[in-house]
Amino acid sequence: MAQVSRIGSFASVAALLATTALAQSYPERQITMVVPFAAGGPTDTVGRLIGEKMSEELGQQIIVENVGGAGGTLGAAQVAEAEPDGYTILLHHIGMATSETLYRELPYETLEAFATIGLVTEVPMTVVARADFEPADMAAFVAYVKENADTITMANAGIGAASHLCGMLLMQALDAPIVTVPYRGTGPAMTELVGGQIDIMCDQTTNTTEQIQGGTIKAYAVTTPERLDLFPDLPTASEAGLQGLDVTVWHGIYAPAGTPQEAIDRLSSALQAALADPAIAEQLAELGTAPSPAEDATPAALETRLNEEIERWRPIIEAAGVYAD
Ligand code: ASP
Repeated sequence: MAQVSRIGSFASVAALLATTALAQSYPERQITMVVPFAAGGPTDTVGRLIGEKMSEELGQQIIVENVGGAGGTLGAAQVAEAEPDGYTILLHHIGMATSETLYRELPYETLEAFATIGLVTEVPMTVVARADFEPADMAAFVAYVKENADTITMANAGIGAASHLCGMLLMQALDAPIVTVPYRGTGPAMTELVGGQIDIMCDQTTNTTEQIQGGTIKAYAVTTPERLDLFPDLPTASEAGLQGLDVTVWHGIYAPAGTPQEAIDRLSSALQAALADPAIAEQLAELGTAPSPAEDATPAALETRLNEEIERWRPIIEAAGVYAD
């Protein structure tokens, strides 16, 4: 008995030493941040911005790996299966919650396969179109799309993407079954919208702001309850009489479940420090958004948000009856 407890205490001392060593040495090499959408899009933009600042905080490089496809679920699946050693993390958005209902067979258990690190930012969406799309304003857009739904094409980043969710709500609100075209991310979709190969899209301001300001695309409405300071002339969807089109795209950072707590804590404090940097706040403001407050950039806050959002969107998606399979 005495021997067993001695072995036990050796084991716990060894575990404690290993933990302390990890806490002191982590991170020892570069970290991969998987962004589950194509490069050049809004999630990628947020990932690169925050990843660069977190790299400075951590003293090791965070490199972004774009794993687009299937509305973000391919990239999420890759992280769910990665070694839980603190060297692979995931930057995802609201799609982490909506995919839970949209996919009746996901290759991972959302609430079990990931450890949460913290919320990053919450981004408004805009309803946009190619620059020469006929309607002049939101009232005309509503009438035109209702009338011509079967000839209009709408881009999204696949089922599970924020653009898909927003598009689905737009179709519901207009009662118009628009033809949707999936891309690996709204970065490539934006290229086609600017080129006029696709008609309309719903996307984050982190992707649409520069194009709206430059006049290379047309903007009709925002999906927030209030108008945005950045685009005071754009009506909210509800002002335009569209009900239920209320989406903001919250982003969070995750790691595979089983990642050592010390690594999670270190990543979370690096995230908080990055978000507190005025230069980050300024760059996000230029893109129509803001850093999440420090109390939200925590594992507990992201876990709560993820759970709440799964429950918020489940009945809405079930009512729409749109599934990925
Ligand atoms: N904006 C995209 C979405 O619809 C994703 C992206 O390309 O970042 O979710």
